[in-house]
Amino acid sequence: MAKQDYYELLGVNKTVSADELKKAYRKLAMKYHPDKNPNDKSAEQKFKEISEAYDVLKDEQKRAAYDRMGHAAFEGGMGSGAGAGGGFHPGFDFSDIFDEMFGGGFGGGSQRSTQSAQRGNDLRYNLTISLDQAYKGLQKKITIPTLQECDECHGSGAEKGSKPESCTTCHGRGKVRSQQGFFTVERTCPTCHGIGQMIKNPCQKCRGAGRVQKEKTLSINVPAGIENGSRIRLAGEGEAGVRGGPAGDLYVFLNVKPHPFFEREASNLFCKVPISMTTAALGGNVDVPTMDGQKARVKIPQGTQSGKQFRLKGKGMPILRSSVFGDLYIDVHVETPVNLSKKQKELLQQFAESEGNHHVSPESEGFFQKVKDFWTDMRD
Ligand SMILES: [Zn+2]
Ligand SMILES: [Zn+2]
Repeated sequence: MAKQDYYELLGVNKTVSADELKKAYRKLAMKYHPDKNPNDKSAEQKFKEISEAYDVLKDEQKRAAYDRMGHAAFEGGMGSGAGAGGGFHPGFDFSDIFDEMFGGGFGGGSQRSTQSAQRGNDLRYNLTISLDQAYKGLQKKITIPTLQECDECHGSGAEKGSKPESCTTCHGRGKVRSQQGFFTVERTCPTCHGIGQMIKNPCQKCRGAGRVQKEKTLSINVPAGIENGSRIRLAGEGEAGVRGGPAGDLYVFLNVKPHPFFEREASNLFCKVPISMTTAALGGNVDVPTMDGQKARVKIPQGTQSGKQFRLKGKGMPILRSSVFGDLYIDVHVETPVNLSKKQKELLQQFAESEGNHHVSPESEGFFQKVKDFWTDMRD
């Protein structure tokens, strides 16, 4: 489903000022608030949508990102590859918005001690590696754009030498109470929007946000034996928190590319190897590739049939965080010779003529004997 434009949702134009934006949002939020529309799913949905839109547009940096990239700015990973599956997108925690706007009180959510602090978003990065790299493990440097703590104000949002001050309207509580008939209604402080603090002189660099969009380079340690679809969590490497909140985490999703001739099943590898008709009949040795870049010699006994499997112990994939390896299974298939010369045809013809007395194909003989019996039985 295509998402509606955030500006449209809030009924404002793209040049709207922060004040007008807030007004438009509050008006709609009051109208669609679940308390005013009990059991109205569409109102609840609308409320979530406008809250999401406001959450983005009220934040200067998010708004700039949205203006540049639209909804794509907040969806999927920044990595390569298809961002299918999983569910880690830089996202919105609606309970935060609810808390911020209406001072908690919803569905018994957790009461945060420092109301203003907010955890940074988690990030997702898709990393594609080869089976070879999964075999050896690797150290990979990645660069991601993310929100980091502003180094000018150390995340406070206040100009150097100044500090955020306690909000004078709510005295730092982030909420104000008012009397409405018999009820005392508690709502988010209109002056500080629930933060409890006010910044008189915003930091020039981050314009009071406390965070700036920056590229960050990280070194990821991909352990040997990692499987396709695994994810690695880098705690605290997601977006920086807001007002002293903890940073989010970075999740690296691993995609292991298929190999041209090894197939993997957990720690075991499978490889199909063609052998000649004569090797299969007379026996011999075949050299097969192994994942460590070497080769291994497989002894083919006389009379080997197509589909026979040979196991090379310990030649499979490493088992994660251990010194143990899986096995490599060689599946041989006997290749029927093609493009025979006249001489070769004669030799095979002679061979065929000699077959009768020698019982060289026990399986065929057994099978055709059974077929004969079957036909005989049918006739009786
Ligand atoms: Zn700053
Ligand atoms: Zn206040």
